[in-house]
Amino acid sequence: MSKQPKRVFISIDMEGITGIVNWEQTGGQTREYEVGRKLMVGDLNAAIEGALEAGAEEIVVSDAHGGMRNIQPEDLHEAAVLVRGSPKPYSMMEGIDPDFDAAMFIGYHARMGAPRAILCHTYSGATVESIHINGLEVGETGLNAALAGHYGVPVVFISGDEAVAEEARGIIPNITAAVVKWAVGRQAARCLHPKKARELIKRKAAEALRNLDRVEPFRFEPPIEVRLKFLNPLMADVAELLPYVERLDGTTIKAVYKDYPEAYCGTRAAIYLAGTTVRRR
Ligand SMILES: [Zn+2]
Repeated sequence: MSKQPKRVFISIDMEGITGIVNWEQTGGQTREYEVGRKLMVGDLNAAIEGALEAGAEEIVVSDAHGGMRNIQPEDLHEAAVLVRGSPKPYSMMEGIDPDFDAAMFIGYHARMGAPRAILCHTYSGATVESIHINGLEVGETGLNAALAGHYGVPVVFISGDEAVAEEARGIIPNITAAVVKWAVGRQAARCLHPKKARELIKRKAAEALRNLDRVEPFRFEPPIEVRLKFLNPLMADVAELLPYVERLDGTTIKAVYKDYPEAYCGTRAAIYLAGTTVRRR
């Protein structure tokens, strides 16, 4: 019998939520976004119920999409504490600490350029082409799992489309995935009914947490070398102003960090800076 998961951390993004296939559903002053938020909290509460069923006593949820104020506090399962708003020092992972027994990623999506992946992107769809850490290409799953891993916390469960499940399995052996949709293109998918998706998420999240000892924390060994390729050279022109950054070619910068938290924050700073050259997504 595995140890009981007393403290569980949840990072929740939006593009991998049940039924979401288009940016319209993920932000802005639209009716579509309001529907998207309902779907989002539905998947989230299912994961929380699964965690409670597995014995969790403390659950911290980090709202990890866009302005990070997607979850309406009143709609959230009352067992969880919500970290909301942005910027947060650890962004999608704000709230993580070494005392969590496990982490779960809900509504995650595959990295930029993945084939048949709903709304694929890596941190910023408007600026980032790819990110390699110590030679391994990663999306948000790997970037965020490595921060949990730095603190010794394993990511045991992920929900999203089939592409992000594949991506997660490729880097985190024995991770449990709940696949709620299968992309037929970047903005179209075959989707489970929300009720079925929530049942699946609840059941698999509980199962993953009951077996959390099967999953090792995912980490990179320091020093951490990050190669960040932007969509165009103007973005690299501004990111290059950061003193720790080296320009490799027209669109690629490189930096070497002493540990993973420094790499996580340094990389995000470069992406923020590059984003100043873009008017909109
Ligand atoms: Zn997102």
